[in-house]
This record gives sequence, C-alpha cells and structure tokens, in this order.
Amino acid sequence: MVAGIRSAAVQPVVAFDVDFAFHPIIISCCFLPALKHPDTQLFSNADYTSQFTLQGTNTYLLGSGPSRLLIDTGSGEKKWIDTVRTVLNSPTKQPLTISTCLLTHWHHDHLGGVRDLEQLSEELSSSHNMKVYKNQPSWNPDGLIDPSRVLDIHDGQKFSVDGNFEIQAVHTPGHAKDHMVFQITASPDPNEIGALFTADNVLGHGTAVFEDLQLYLESLNVMKKRVVDAIALQQQDNDQPAGISGGPNSSAHTPTIKKRAYPGHGQYIDDAIAKFDEYIAHRRMREEEALNVLKYGTVKAPDSSGPLVADSITTIGESDSNSDTEANLTAPKEIVGGKEWSSMEMVRVIYRHYPENLWEPAERGLLMVLEKLKKDGRVVNVGGQGDGDGKGRWRVSEKATL
Ligand SMILES: [Zn+2]
Repeated sequence: MVAGIRSAAVQPVVAFDVDFAFHPIIISCCFLPALKHPDTQLFSNADYTSQFTLQGTNTYLLGSGPSRLLIDTGSGEKKWIDTVRTVLNSPTKQPLTISTCLLTHWHHDHLGGVRDLEQLSEELSSSHNMKVYKNQPSWNPDGLIDPSRVLDIHDGQKFSVDGNFEIQAVHTPGHAKDHMVFQITASPDPNEIGALFTADNVLGHGTAVFEDLQLYLESLNVMKKRVVDAIALQQQDNDQPAGISGGPNSSAHTPTIKKRAYPGHGQYIDDAIAKFDEYIAHRRMREEEALNVLKYGTVKAPDSSGPLVADSITTIGESDSNSDTEANLTAPKEIVGGKEWSSMEMVRVIYRHYPENLWEPAERGLLMVLEKLKKDGRVVNVGGQGDGDGKGRWRVSEKATL
C-alpha cells in the first residue's frame, strides 16, 4: 500500500511504501540545517549530496480516523503546509483534522511549520483544538514557537488516535537536550508495535550529529533496548500455541522479527536493531581512532589489518580504513603514550584525506569524542598548552596504555 508523499523539490511524489495499518502519510519538504559536524555522508560522498539535501525533514501524519496525529512540522516552507492542506482536504475522503502535533526537538527544521499549522488548523475547524507538544517548551532558542501555547511532553507519555493506535514518548537527549523519539505501543497490526520514530537520533542516511556524545550513546542504547523488548514480547506471543493467546501471526516457525525505524530525515529503516548496532559500532570506531592516534600516531593500531569495526556508514575519515599505508609506514609502531597532541594535530592525522576547510568542523566532533574518553578515564587533557586556543593537549591515560 502506498502511503507516502514527499514534496521536496517540485511536485509531491509517492516516495514510500509504508505498511502501517494506519497508513501514515510522510510529508517531507524542508531542507537540512547547516551541518555542524563532518560526521555525515554529505561531506564524503558527492553522489548522495543532492539527494540528501533535497530530502528535507520527514513529518509523519498518523491515524485512520478523521482526527490525526502529526510528528514534526518541517522548517516552515510554504510547500510543506500546502501539502498538508492538500492531504487534509483530499476530495475523495472526508476532511481530516490534526488533533495532536508532537515536536521531536527544538531545531528549526522540525518546528518551523508550527505557526502555519496552527493557522491551517483554525481555517479548517472553527473549534481549533489542535494541541502542540514539545519536551521543555521553553527551550526554544530560535523563538519559533510560543511556549505558552505548547504543552510539555514527558518521558513515557502516551498519545493515541482513533482505532487502537498509540505511541509513547521516550526522552533521548544527545542530539538535542529536548529530543524525544516515539515508539508505537498499540496498533491493530502487531508487527507495527515497537517501531520507532527516531527523529534526528538515527537517520535514513549517514550518521547523526550530536551535542553531547555521552548522552547520545546512552540514548542509542535506550532506543535499542525498547525495540529489543518489543520484539521479545511479540516473539513470546507468537510462540504461544495457537488458540491460547494466538492471534493471526502465531506460527511454529516464526521468522526473525524486525522492527522499523522512521527517521527525521531520509528513507525508513527496515531493521532498527541492525541500524542501532551500526551507529553504536561507528561511535566506538571513532573513539578507537582517537585513542590510536594518541597511542601510535595512526588511526589504526599497528597490528590491525582491517577496519576496526564493520563500518558501512560512509563518513569523513572513512577512507582511513583502507588507505593507511603511507601513515603507517612513517608512524612509530610502539605505544607513544607519553606524547601530547593538540586536537588539531589529531585531526590532521585522522582526516588527512579531506580538504582542510573540513578540519575545523572535524575538530569539533573530535573534541566531543575526547571529552567522552576523558570522562571514561581513557585520556587526559593536560590543558592550556595547545595551539594557543585554550583547548589544551591530549594524551592517553596510564590506564589506556595498559
Ligand atoms: Zn535536529
């Protein structure tokens, strides 16, 4: 069944084939914000650039009755609200309204359309009773919403729409401190239960950016656990002998259950668990690279023959996995735990195959990795003696050299 609409570039086109019982309509229109870190596909694979930037923000309209639930509102482009109007006023169906609008986090490309949506809601219904929710409504640095008109979302809060369809909010900071994801907790189709709307924590392409790596990693693990638990529950249900708790999916040969992830940007993900594992492994790889530079002066340990972890994410620094020869030949092979590095010196090793204009944003990402490693007790910041920029110099801790 076809249920997706993307209005990114010119005309709305069918973009997704989503098998929801409730036919969510995916409206994608707006453009990605300026990228703050290099840890994204945009910098590394020109082939994807236009696709990535044209894709915009996904907004999900959920429900099957006359009253719907909307996740996110894009960045305020006219095309987006026009598409919403068209969807709500479909001439072949009864007019729809939006009863609840959930904002995943404060970034402008997710709540930029709120004011247009409120106006449209007034236009369409004299009672205009749409409720808008966001975690920490007063956290609104761009001033795009009126906090007095927005209700708070708390961790665990549930939202339902007509017909036994329900999602639950999960506070997952890291990308942004108010970031929420939503998990389907009730649906007539048991296969949908457990799927996650991941907003900007997990994307359809590349990797996500974050403002706090430690929190972000914790959130990835929380999200993964939620989906793992949902799969276990469904598995349990399926394993019951037919006729006891049965249901249409009961079978002695239940295939491995997968749950989908619906990101804030990009195509939906069929196997959410595999994607979480990929993201977590990718972060681990970045930490190992930083540690290896501090220890050996190279991104790989001298005795390592291949990539540190399976890394199917194409990002800046990716080429290090297969083009280390030159650096490895010239680099010391013993642990150089005593050597102190500035973050920019490390960037010059890790991102040496990338244009210099990317080194500064790369350094911001690396500093977050180093801060996390410091909290973990694996590196030490000796402070003050760096490039005169106050970022200090870094070395591995005694513990990490063992
Ligand atoms: Zn964001």
